[in-house]
Amino acid sequence: MPYEPETMTFALAADGRKVHVDEVANGLACECVCLKCGGKLVGRHGDVRQHHFSHYLATDGVGCTETALHLAAKAVIQQEMRLILPQQLEGMGLQLRAEACFDSVSLEYRLGSGEEGTEIVADVYGHGAIDMVIEIAVHHPVDHEKAEKIRRLGLPAVEIVLTNSVSSLWDWETLRHAVVADPHRRHWINLPEPEPVADQKPLTTSALPSWEFNIRGARVVAHKLPFRNFSVWHSFDPDVREVVEGACRGRGWWQSKYRNWVVFDRFWPEVFAALLSADQQRN
Ligand SMILES: [Zn+2]
Repeated sequence: MPYEPETMTFALAADGRKVHVDEVANGLACECVCLKCGGKLVGRHGDVRQHHFSHYLATDGVGCTETALHLAAKAVIQQEMRLILPQQLEGMGLQLRAEACFDSVSLEYRLGSGEEGTEIVADVYGHGAIDMVIEIAVHHPVDHEKAEKIRRLGLPAVEIVLTNSVSSLWDWETLRHAVVADPHRRHWINLPEPEPVADQKPLTTSALPSWEFNIRGARVVAHKLPFRNFSVWHSFDPDVREVVEGACRGRGWWQSKYRNWVVFDRFWPEVFAALLSADQQRN
């Protein structure tokens, strides 16, 4: 007999939604299939055990329950479009907001330079003021090799851990809390170190390249940072802020401590082009 852990609570309904067992009818009338193997499922609304699904046929695939939970967790992020961040490490100084809100969320998102052996497929990639990789661990934590590749990409990355030490089964509410909020279920895989920015004023004597723009009558200063990435600072003005934020959002992160944007190296050409174009539109 294949081991049937009787912990599957999420499935694919006939109408294409991912559903919890309590959202559908009992027995075969649930009209659900397994999110992994596509096998027909039976809703089990008994009184003795917690409600769950089981495969109708005994030929269950391995890992169906884990895959169903993994897919349900990704669906939660797509619905919520936000994530409470792990507490930042002492002394790191990177002023990430406690919550990341995303403009869009991609699942199974391919990242990397395109060179063989450097690419990763992120479980979830959140695009917003902070772009970040989100990995969801149901059984195993992210492996060393993938974590290394993520670090080399220099992107913030969070792991959400859904391994359960207690035998209670997941429903949407507990899963939503675990995925979006629970501080005990998240940690940084990679938290990029803050870029040292000595001063908000332009370092005109610096050997590192810097650029000054005049956008809508306000000053915008960009610097190559010493190790990697670029900073973009603008004077306080709602009009110029709109332009700069539009250019930088999704291509780096807002560093509130220094009141500037940090733009990833690989996005610098397009950010630079946007700033230059805005500068040349001056009246
Ligand atoms: Zn299955």
